[in-house]
Amino acid sequence: MTMKPISIVTGGAGFIGSHMVDLLRDQGHRVRVIDDFTGGHEKNLAHRKDDPDLEVARKSILDVAPDDPLFEGVKWVFHFAGIGDIVPSIQAPAEYMNVNVQGTVRILEAARHAGVEKMVYAASSSGFGLAETPTPEDHVIQPQYPYALSKNLGEQACMHWHKVYGLPVNSIRIFNAYGPRVRTTGAYGAVFGVFLKQKLESKPFTVVGDGSQTRDFIFVTDVARAFLAAADTPLSGESWNIGAGKPESINRLVELLGGPVVYIPKRPGEPDCTWADIRKISRDLNWAPTVSFEDGVKIMLDSIEHWRDAPLWDPESIRDATKEWFEYLS
Ligand code: UDP
Repeated sequence: MTMKPISIVTGGAGFIGSHMVDLLRDQGHRVRVIDDFTGGHEKNLAHRKDDPDLEVARKSILDVAPDDPLFEGVKWVFHFAGIGDIVPSIQAPAEYMNVNVQGTVRILEAARHAGVEKMVYAASSSGFGLAETPTPEDHVIQPQYPYALSKNLGEQACMHWHKVYGLPVNSIRIFNAYGPRVRTTGAYGAVFGVFLKQKLESKPFTVVGDGSQTRDFIFVTDVARAFLAAADTPLSGESWNIGAGKPESINRLVELLGGPVVYIPKRPGEPDCTWADIRKISRDLNWAPTVSFEDGVKIMLDSIEHWRDAPLWDPESIRDATKEWFEYLS
């Protein structure tokens, strides 16, 4: 009898991590999730409650030891755990460095000691700052706020472990991922969560600026497929950008969702356009997006009840929540 391969997903109770768990289970992997349930949520894994091949370790990545037994016999490690969002990172930069940089180092050390076959790091496109578009992998790195810096330093640590210790590690810089289970609580941000709750409550969509700004939205299951390919390739020490390679405007999103709008001020340091150059990932990993924006938005609308308990934002609460954003970013 052949043994099932074992994978670790840190942040497996989170948005993208939980989709990674689903894909790995479909591929016949046993999965160990490491999640402290600060950002992650039980309901993201509720559909796998009785799955005997899923083990959930409720702990922080900061508590992972170099010889952690969780890493025994592990083939692949997918590292999604971390903290996100702009404003809280401006308020608590040391916390972001601790979790996103030192936490990543803990995972690298455990992966190194266990001799895993591959680790894949969930990196962020935010490190590119206000970038040229379409943005290739070798674009200059220019983080605009502590979250972006911390994710970039985590990525640099991965590449350092590859160089110094020969750890097989790759990283994927995610542009605007969306899909079912996209975060519903916590800080203001992630436009889908904001708009879907507004739609549920028949409140106007809070459109930033004139809504003509564009984002390279990529559906979450396409992201998970890329991470699988990044583990399964003989390549290592590589970084790839991932988006749909096709920016969509906020006005287009509003049109697909349908509903009234209210306009709110443009935020400092926000790019007018994000757009991943996906030629490298397409070539190296034979990856291409499969879910169109129209289909993706339809899937979101079909699962809109998921956002029932999400916070409802309006222009006033957004103004209060983004005070530091306007103060510190330019
Ligand atoms: N956005 C918006 N209204 C909101 C929140 C976001 O129009 O209430 C827009 C925002 O201007 C940006 C896009 O949605 O162009 C994506 O914003 P998000 O915060 O999700 O991601 P990021 O800005 O990091 O790309």
